[in-house]
Amino acid sequence: MSKIALFPGSFDPFTNGHLNIVERATKIFDQVIIGIFTNTNKTALFSLEEKLELTKEATKHLENVTIVAQEAGLTVTIAQKMGANFLIRGLRSIKDYEYERDIAFMNQHLNQEVETVFLLADNAHSSLSSSVIKEIAQFSGDVAPFLPPIINQAMKEKMKSRDE
Ligand code: ADP
Repeated sequence: MSKIALFPGSFDPFTNGHLNIVERATKIFDQVIIGIFTNTNKTALFSLEEKLELTKEATKHLENVTIVAQEAGLTVTIAQKMGANFLIRGLRSIKDYEYERDIAFMNQHLNQEVETVFLLADNAHSSLSSSVIKEIAQFSGDVAPFLPPIINQAMKEKMKSRDE
């Protein structure tokens, strides 16, 4: 049976930290699906459509990656609908661990067929988050080192269109 994993998140925007997790996951799983979902607790800068296109572009060098974007639903239900029996999440810190552990236990309770697999953020990306990127970009700080080039470009355009 092929191993299909869903990597769910809001990816607003998709950073080099996310990309690193995806690249490593492609070596473990046969197929990796990046699931871009609206996070009801966060205000999004990019629309689902924009994120879909940008993330597609940023991962086009990876053969076994597909991307879906949709309004949030129960992650395990979405995973099962897509034939994924693994969920991937990234861990940057103790704070992530505590938050992610609660979600993983809940998901396990909801569906025992779907296993959560955690990948440790690599050192270079362990302080990187989409929210920090948005904060820096808002004040015209340089976020290029933290984003795939196509996403950095889109970020610049987004900030420009906001200022106009
Ligand atoms: P969510 O709103 O679901 O937390 P995010 O887009 O913020 O969505 O994150 C999606 C996943 O990517 C989460 O598991 C998060 O811990 C992980 N992640 C975020 N930033 C990084 C990073 N810099 N390195 C590794 N994993 C990360």
